[in-house]
Amino acid sequence: MAKKNIFEQIVLGEIPCKKVLENDHFLAFYDINPKAPTHILAIPKVCVKDFSSASPKLLGDLCAFAQEVVEVAGLKKDGYRIITNCGVNGGQEVPHLHLHILGGAKLSFPKLA
Ligand code: AMP
Repeated sequence: MAKKNIFEQIVLGEIPCKKVLENDHFLAFYDINPKAPTHILAIPKVCVKDFSSASPKLLGDLCAFAQEVVEVAGLKKDGYRIITNCGVNGGQEVPHLHLHILGGAKLSFPKLA
């Protein structure tokens, strides 16, 4: 069986996370190595490798979930940035689709390296 990536292990509860929001299909938790005062990752529970592999329906549902996360995390008023890294040139480290939701300060661009 293929080795589970770290986000699959988080979804399964095998690795702890600091949860922000969860429903049947999506999970949001704080990034362990934050690049902004607030840095949240929003992921689908189903393992899809990246943005290019995801269906338009999944991406739409993930974005709707991210809108809820933004509200719950108190980022809506002052603004935020959403990024998804894809593949080697995108700097993707974890092969499980995720949105970075960054806020809590005025961010320079780009700011994830
Ligand atoms: P990416 O480079 O887009 O694949 O981003 C992966 C992100 O996952 C990085 O920002 C890491 O800091 C974050 N990360 C890795 N392991 C964990 C973990 N156990 N809990 C929370 N965030 C993590």
